[in-house]
Amino acid sequence: MNFYGNPITRLIEELSGLPGIGGKSAQRLAFYIINMPKEKAYALSEAIRDAKENIKYCSVCCNLTDDDPCYICDNPKRNHKIIMVVEDPRDMAAYEKTREFNGVYHVLHGAISPMLGIGPQDIKIKELLERVGKEDTDEVIIATNPNVEGEATAMYINKLLKPLGVKVTRIANGVPVGGDLEYIDEVTLSRALEGRREM
Ligand code: ZN
Repeated sequence: MNFYGNPITRLIEELSGLPGIGGKSAQRLAFYIINMPKEKAYALSEAIRDAKENIKYCSVCCNLTDDDPCYICDNPKRNHKIIMVVEDPRDMAAYEKTREFNGVYHVLHGAISPMLGIGPQDIKIKELLERVGKEDTDEVIIATNPNVEGEATAMYINKLLKPLGVKVTRIANGVPVGGDLEYIDEVTLSRALEGRREM
């Protein structure tokens, strides 16, 4: 229904396509944007365009970055022989906040989920294997989420890494089962990391 004229209807439609934004919220946001000062609204659209145009995958760890390699892969003070495997860039950010981890990361961008039709080839596992194969890696810490998909992904990666002779560990169950790493407090994350066990 087009009560407000095409441009507003279009804005509402675009916003309601975002996760967690229902029709009502989309309307509220659309009217908020319409009433914003012009510069503010343009800054928002410019930020979206800038992020889309300049963010890419780090060629080493697959994290999202505007510089390649990313600031972590490019930091000589980090221990590049310890790689922590996470599902999502936000999990990496959660571990960075703890300041307990001085290694580097590998971001999978998802987890294996037969239910959702996500197979190993749909996430960045091949990149991890290539990386471990050619770099001098001491340890791979698998920090996928402690749910069914995260565990399946951890076991799958472990099976592939074992023949390469690299030590593979899994973060401890200090993380609540079914939890999302992103929402877990820093103390729990630090303990999960400390208590990791060899797979
Ligand atoms: Zn990187």
